[in-house]
Amino acid sequence: MFTKKTIKDIDPRGRKILVRVDYNVPLKDGAVADDTRIQASIPTLNYLLDRGGILILCSHLGRPKGEVVPELSLRPVAEQLSNLLGRPVEFQPDCVGIEVQGAVSALSEGDVLLLENTRFYAEEKANDPDFAARLAAPAELFVNDAFGSAHRAHASTFGVAEILPAVAGFLMEKELEYLGDALEEPSHPFIAILGGAKISDKIGVVEHLLTMADRLLIGGGMANTFLAAKGYALGESLVEEDSIDTAKKILQESGDEILLPSDVVVGKAFAANTEHKVVPVDEVTEGWRAMDIGPATIQTFSEALDDAALIVWNGPMGVFEFPSFSEGTRALAQAVAECEGVSIVGGGDSAAAVRQAGLSDKISHVSTGGGASLEFLEGKMLPGVAVLLDKDAEIEP
Ligand code: ADP
Ligand code: MG
Repeated sequence: MFTKKTIKDIDPRGRKILVRVDYNVPLKDGAVADDTRIQASIPTLNYLLDRGGILILCSHLGRPKGEVVPELSLRPVAEQLSNLLGRPVEFQPDCVGIEVQGAVSALSEGDVLLLENTRFYAEEKANDPDFAARLAAPAELFVNDAFGSAHRAHASTFGVAEILPAVAGFLMEKELEYLGDALEEPSHPFIAILGGAKISDKIGVVEHLLTMADRLLIGGGMANTFLAAKGYALGESLVEEDSIDTAKKILQESGDEILLPSDVVVGKAFAANTEHKVVPVDEVTEGWRAMDIGPATIQTFSEALDDAALIVWNGPMGVFEFPSFSEGTRALAQAVAECEGVSIVGGGDSAAAVRQAGLSDKISHVSTGGGASLEFLEGKMLPGVAVLLDKDAEIEP
């Protein structure tokens, strides 16, 4: 259950509302290359605008390291947002200061102003209180709809929420409802699927999911370390030596719940057009590296998903960016899409793989937040959520 106040608990009319959105979008040649995240913010913005809110939007974009980097300006986003909203969006080439104050005081009901990249200031990531106060200054209320940044306690996700009455937007609410409901009282059989490049990033996720899931299917680069822990030789495959002991311990404690690949697609080099073949996991020889799960594994994994009531998936099954090694991820996406239970996909690359396969609509929920959904799957509290007003707080936002 989502226990925070949302935009349904406020009266937006005539009020200046600072909205933290997640417009950390890919840019190409000065234009937005993929507007999924902008689209995801539209329901919240329209709700507030239809009710006479005055919107001041802020976001980070990329990693400018506290300096002005013109290539990481949010200006191209203003244009794309204006197209999607069907109304003008004013852009301010700064996110704090006297000019912003002036621009905001000239706004009226239904107007939208987009501020420049908050990470042009080092104070953003440092959650500097003075900077947070300057960011909050022109506004009366704060709405956080940036689920993808909720795992960071930065000025625009945390600091401002300590100053202004703060509530969640629809995207934030939807993300947390899906993930929260799924993990609070999971339906069974609950099957978790984990993949991706590195196990060290995701040990916490493995351990937390194992406390709840009936089965854990492990593929991708992550599986290599588990296979190595079982004593298989894996040639040139990506294996994290430092994590082998942890993998051994996990297998000892929960080995029955974990399914590992029985065959893999190996390649000669980490490249798109390299020579490749399918081999059982005990036949990965020197000079070859495991880069996808094989057909027998696809079969076993898909069957394990057959009667699932809940599936949570994070991390591709192989190097899906290269067509020769994308079949495992594509086939699993298909199997997840066919599942009649609730299916949730989290993680930036996993979400991209599902979109690439054209299956987003057949998954119950594809999370927009990579790092945030992972930390949530680890059972961690997200600071950007914790700081919002509780549903039963007496403050009238
Ligand atoms: P997500 O963003 O969904 O959390 P990750 O970032 O953890 O996923 O992992 C995605 C990356 O893992 C992809 O770039 C993919 O190429 C890589 N990967 C998957 N399997 C392998 C493998 N067997 N060897 C090397 N890299 C792999
Ligand atoms: Mg990733």
